[in-house]
Amino acid sequence: MGNLPFIVEDLAHRFDIDYIEPPVFSEETVRIGASLAPEFACLPLKAVVGTFVQALEAGADTLLMGGGSGPCRFGYYAELQRRILEKEGYRFNLIVLDPPSTSLKAAYSGLRGIVGPDVARLGTLVRELKRALAKVVVFDEIEKWVLALKGREAEEGSVARAAEEARQVTSAAFTGKEIRRARREAQLLFEEVPLDDNRQHMRFGLVGEIFVVLEPYFNFDIGNWLGKRGVVVERCVHIADTVYPGGRNPIFGYSDRQVARAASPYLTHEVGGDGLLSVGATAIFASRGFDAVIHFLPFTCMPEVIAKSVLFRVSEEMGIPVLSLTIDEQTGRAGIETRMEALLDLARSRRRRACREVAGLSVAT
Ligand code: SF4
Repeated sequence: MGNLPFIVEDLAHRFDIDYIEPPVFSEETVRIGASLAPEFACLPLKAVVGTFVQALEAGADTLLMGGGSGPCRFGYYAELQRRILEKEGYRFNLIVLDPPSTSLKAAYSGLRGIVGPDVARLGTLVRELKRALAKVVVFDEIEKWVLALKGREAEEGSVARAAEEARQVTSAAFTGKEIRRARREAQLLFEEVPLDDNRQHMRFGLVGEIFVVLEPYFNFDIGNWLGKRGVVVERCVHIADTVYPGGRNPIFGYSDRQVARAASPYLTHEVGGDGLLSVGATAIFASRGFDAVIHFLPFTCMPEVIAKSVLFRVSEEMGIPVLSLTIDEQTGRAGIETRMEALLDLARSRRRRACREVAGLSVAT
């Protein structure tokens, strides 16, 4: 999912864990997951079941799954996946990693299960996790820069090349000093990307459920698709923001409290998953003058279905087009691209209309 492979590789290296990198998502992964999971389960469950089967077939004997609590089904998924896989005859050890916000004790015991008792001294754990977190922040910043610059690059492919090099430099960093140096180098690489200042560009916000928003296979590589059409993209969901303590969200740049305040005229409480963030971030993008917001939700995702119903009002009252795209295992690229093209046309005509209005001209387009 998104940057997660780089992060997992770093953690495995840090704690000397022998791990199997699961294959990238494919039709086969989804086919396996959808055939084993309940039909009305959301896409992330099906996709992860498919990935687990592929990892077990490749020789994994231990599976690691996130846990949690709250008004979304995610907290049940580890147990559900265990039962599905055992019913299929697989034998494995399942470690559930609960977030510290659920229970510090459960989080510590999950970590001990992964790193083993030898390296589970609290001081070592904290030091290495702090370094790993610093690295997660850099990987996410790289993604943020890619989304922001792709739509304005003067030479096609220059942003992708900068990203590739920046990721290599960051992957090789291990200590705190090396990570800080890698961040400086990565930033420099992006600062040197030549931009086309004459190219007209639009700004789109990306909100929705973390799995679909972050994973290019399921969002049809939307950031790249929009970038090629001259759109500057900003996303509100990032792995670093999700794991960063204190709800500061260093990558998105707005704290949980600021997001909740922005959402409060429309939604006043948590609805699970990223629902509140979707509403708050859309309001933030609208107040910053973005041209449109794209909202991704997996089919049957409860928090995002609530957000979707609220986003109608945000769109109407704040005057920003919001396109909600529901993704499941049947969703095809052509359908998504057609709707994206329509959104681009709408955003362009709103721009033209706004220019004419400012100039006092007829608004016919
Ligand atoms: S947030 Fe939505 S898609 Fe994600 S696990 Fe929860 S219900 Fe499923």
